[in-house]
Order: sequence, then C-alpha cells, then structure tokens
Amino acid sequence: MYIVGHYIILTELLENFKENTFDIERLRQGLLYPDLPCGKYEFQGTKVSMVDKHVCSIKDIKSLLHTNYFKPLFQSHRGVYAFLHSMSWDPSLNVKQVRDKIIQYIMNFVVLSVYDDNIFKKPLRNDLIKSNEFWIGIVLHIIMDSYSKAHTIRLNIPTKTPSQKYFLKHKAFKDEIKNVLINIKNNIYNPQELKEVLFTKFDKEEERIYITKRIKYIYATYKMNVFDKQIKNVSKNFYKKKSVKVKTKNTYDITNFQYYNDQKSLYHKQYDFLLYVRKYKGLYERMIQECKVVLDLFKQVKEGHLTPKQYANQIYTHLVSHTFHIADDDLKQKTGVVYDTQ
Ligand SMILES: [Zn+2]
Repeated sequence: MYIVGHYIILTELLENFKENTFDIERLRQGLLYPDLPCGKYEFQGTKVSMVDKHVCSIKDIKSLLHTNYFKPLFQSHRGVYAFLHSMSWDPSLNVKQVRDKIIQYIMNFVVLSVYDDNIFKKPLRNDLIKSNEFWIGIVLHIIMDSYSKAHTIRLNIPTKTPSQKYFLKHKAFKDEIKNVLINIKNNIYNPQELKEVLFTKFDKEEERIYITKRIKYIYATYKMNVFDKQIKNVSKNFYKKKSVKVKTKNTYDITNFQYYNDQKSLYHKQYDFLLYVRKYKGLYERMIQECKVVLDLFKQVKEGHLTPKQYANQIYTHLVSHTFHIADDDLKQKTGVVYDTQ
C-alpha cells in the first residue's frame, strides 16, 4: 500500500492507545519495511540473524525500473516476497497455499517481536524476552495491505483485474536459481562457495555469467532464505495450527489474492491508495480493529500480562477468524485470476 497511507493509518491506530509505551520509531520502521527492505542478514555461528533492519530510501524505488532480481526491494514488490503485502507471488498457487504462507510468516514475525535477536538462544525462556516493535510493524503492514483493492479481493467490493502477464516471462531462469537456494541443505558461509554449488546445477555459459555477475546479491538472498527457514523452525513451537471449517462468508471477507504481474502498474498504484479503503462503509473500521487487536496483544506480552505462547496462539486465532477468515470454497480457487465484478 502507498507508503503515506500506512503512516496515516498508524497514526489513527495509535490514538486507540493512550499512554502507550511503544517504541514508535521502530514500529514505523517495521511498518515501512516490506515496501522498502534494505536489511542485512549475517551468519552468527550456524544461525543467520538480521543484523541490520535498515529501511531503504524512497529514492531506491527507482531501482525497480532497472531491476536486479535478487535485491529484496525487487522481490518484495514484484516477486516471491509478495506475500508480505498479502498478495499472491505465483498464480499457479491456490488461495489456501497463499493464505497459509502469509500466516506462517506473520507468526515468524510475531515470535521475533517477543525475542528479537535472542530468538536462537536455547531454551527460549521468559528471561530471554526482548520485545521489538520492528517485527510487529511488519505484521501491521501485511494486515493493512490485505485491505488494499490492488492486493486482495474481498467480498462485496467490486474488482477489476486487467490481465497483463507481461512480467512473468522474465522470471523462469531466475526462479530456478531461487528454488536451488531454498533447497540447499548445509550452510554455505561465503559467496564463492555458493557460486560453486550453483555451477553444479547450471552449466550453460549464459547462466554462469548471470550467476557470476550477481553472486553478491544471490548470496544475500540465500542468507535471507536460511533466516526464514530457521525462524519457522523456532516459531512453529509457539502456536497450534487449527483447522477451522468456514462455511459462511462475512461482508468484506477475503475471497482471493491478487497477483501483481496480472496488473498494470498504474492500476496497482491507483487502487493502492488509502482512499479506496475509506470508500466502503465499515471497511476502514474493520482494518483498524484488526490491527488494534494485534497491537494490543503485543502490548500485553510486552508488559508481562501474557506469555509468548499465549500471545502467539491468540494472534493465530485472530488471523484465521478475522483478517484471513476465508470460506472453504474460496480456499480452493487459483490466485490472481481475473475477477471482473464491476
Ligand atoms: Zn505493501
């Protein structure tokens, strides 16, 4: 969602929390992070931590024009990290697959919001609690984005999705590299070593030139993947997945996730504005309410009124029963399809 929109919503959200003790600057950084990710991941021993949570400058958005596929900024806007904006990153996936991954990532951030860089210390006890608003800011971003017409399709909101698959054709080879990165079993501690591993899988000259030129960024992407995997392994112990049958749809429930590459850039920008959330009666209020629940639970865990597990379970329940409350028949649909209800 349009960056200024996130700021405005956060300001209004915080009005619900008189005398709050939040670290607002960190909260804002996290809130903007999915749009402007310029962080740094490093191995510390065998674990990868996010050592720099740097938000890119708004000017860096220009680099999306001459794209570097392995930059997080690119992937976040147009690639595999589209789920950080409640969007589909691959139209061959169905709604359930996209929904589950969004929730899984939110849960990663939820556990990080309690332990921050203590996340890999063992055992993770209450005395290791180190809350950080940055991570909960990212969660709020994902929830807010799910209310953007350009990102999700919601019941009772007319949608027009022009199908423009102009970008997909450039993705194939690069996605293969990414698949290899995701499936590497043993840790790789430097770019050179990673290049050697990739060369065992890609032997065409042009592929090798491509890899050599970008190895620095490919290695950064690799570390990010390791980080994600390791966090998932920790966070899954904090909440119980529930399978809830959803037969009845509520007004404004999500019915599908949009796919960026189906959209004209202009369409995306136009419908990404806060304006469209305000246009439908009760929609803005629902979004604020859902963000409020999450922020309030964070406040409670931070102040010691909830244990990390209670906190994680309550957020999980909230996500499946509100923000991502999706009827069973919609879960089976392919994502990013053309829905024209206008
Ligand atoms: Zn976004």
